[in-house]
Amino acid sequence: MSKKNTNKVETYSFFSCIKKNFDKATPFLSNIEKGLLDQIQSCNAVYRMNFPIKIGKKIKIIEAYRVQHSHHKLPCKGGIRYSIKVNQDEIMTLAALMTYKCAIVDVPFGGSKGGIKIDPQTTSIEIIEKITRRYTSELIKKNFIGPGIDVPAPDYGTGEREMSWIFDTFLSIKPGEVDALACVTGKPISQGGVRGRKEATGLGVFYGIRELCRIKKEMLYLGLDVGLHGKKIIIQGLGNVGSHAAYFFHEAGAIIVGIAEREGAIYNPNGLNISNVLMHLKNTGSILNFPESKNIENTEKALELECDILIPAALENVIHTKNAYRIKAKIIGEAANGPITPEAEEILEKMGVIIVPDIYLNAGGVTVSYFEWLKNLSHVRYGRMEKRLSENMNSYFLQVIETICKKKIPKEEKKRILRGPREIDLVRSGLEDTMIIGFHKIRDIKKSLGIKNMRTAAFVLAIKKIIDSYEKLGIFP
Ligand code: NAD
Repeated sequence: MSKKNTNKVETYSFFSCIKKNFDKATPFLSNIEKGLLDQIQSCNAVYRMNFPIKIGKKIKIIEAYRVQHSHHKLPCKGGIRYSIKVNQDEIMTLAALMTYKCAIVDVPFGGSKGGIKIDPQTTSIEIIEKITRRYTSELIKKNFIGPGIDVPAPDYGTGEREMSWIFDTFLSIKPGEVDALACVTGKPISQGGVRGRKEATGLGVFYGIRELCRIKKEMLYLGLDVGLHGKKIIIQGLGNVGSHAAYFFHEAGAIIVGIAEREGAIYNPNGLNISNVLMHLKNTGSILNFPESKNIENTEKALELECDILIPAALENVIHTKNAYRIKAKIIGEAANGPITPEAEEILEKMGVIIVPDIYLNAGGVTVSYFEWLKNLSHVRYGRMEKRLSENMNSYFLQVIETICKKKIPKEEKKRILRGPREIDLVRSGLEDTMIIGFHKIRDIKKSLGIKNMRTAAFVLAIKKIIDSYEKLGIFP
């Protein structure tokens, strides 16, 4: 960590935060050569580019990055971020997090990340499209994109629209490439996307936190009841990840008491109806002045309000040494990447807060991106081959049961049992299974090695898997 100003909130090298977390895990790994640990941590390839874009009559130079952190498995995989804060350190860190994330949830990719230094909020759609297409062609020129090379996805400030442009640019430069659809994930369904990708990260966050809240021992330790029902939740960032996570928590009976966005926060101790808040945001362009809620001008203050679970789902380093002491939540679910600095984490740990770490909790996005990539390579929609067969088999079983029992099964029950799996059912089932298995693998390591927190245990799990891969692969001479 490089402390640049001791009076203000510290400014960090984000990459050094990850190194700190990595170093906390290595004492729990025995007999590993230092060189191998160094290799795992280092970024394999960093492509920093500047390219010109004509805006009106003027030429503007755009700064952008693509970082491939690890080639121990290929392709590399990681989102693309559009933000004015984009810098090399940030993209390197996010690429590294992707490597560990993929290892934890058994997704066979190396980690990567991309970023373009623009403000999508103040840039016109036409210019964003121009920049996205130019960025993609720069990646193609340097062989930094492709179904077997490196596969981007959405991240902060990007979504289906940008992924569509990336695919279209790739295909127009590489016509006839039969697997071109798999060059990017997070695409709209009509462009080869998979059902369930859009909400996957938020839903994964929900599954991960739900799993923690199901464990009696953990809830007893926190002084909370088992289950999500009635738990008070604050969400920071109502974008893709935050809005979907909020929706699934609300559906499960949790109470969303606060939501923080750039312009301020809203709070209602009795709960906010998330669909209505999203509608209000759409209609007014802001979450503020939502009926029956209190406006909070200083949006950061929302993190410190009374709640059981805090979900930071916006950006990194939002919980630091200056505000960690004031956090009231007993559980923090890191939906965003790197929202807690290592120093703040130490404070929170002493306060008894359970932190569910980003490298596990927000892995739902890359998990479903993996499903999309597989769909694109197989060129067939999930469920297409087996749906009708399952329905016919189910129908046959029901007939046999009705004949044996001499009783009719109610119509509604029958309808539910008969239905064969659709793509969305299979994707959500795969995601739920992945998040549940991941949670327990981390918890088992934590318990068996006597590790204090989930993050260190998650790093141990990830590093072990990557080491195993290198050992089987060998290091190229
Ligand atoms: P997004 O752009 O859709 O949403 C981010 C939201 O945060 C926006 O609504 C923005 O207005 C809000 N925000 C920005 N600054 C804020 C502040 N100071 N206070 C409160 N709100 C603020 O981005 P996203 O895709 O939802 O990503 C959010 C986080 O989740 C990022 O850290 C990203 O890396 C991580 N993540 C995203 C995915 C994914 O699939 N999209 C996957 C894994 C991790």
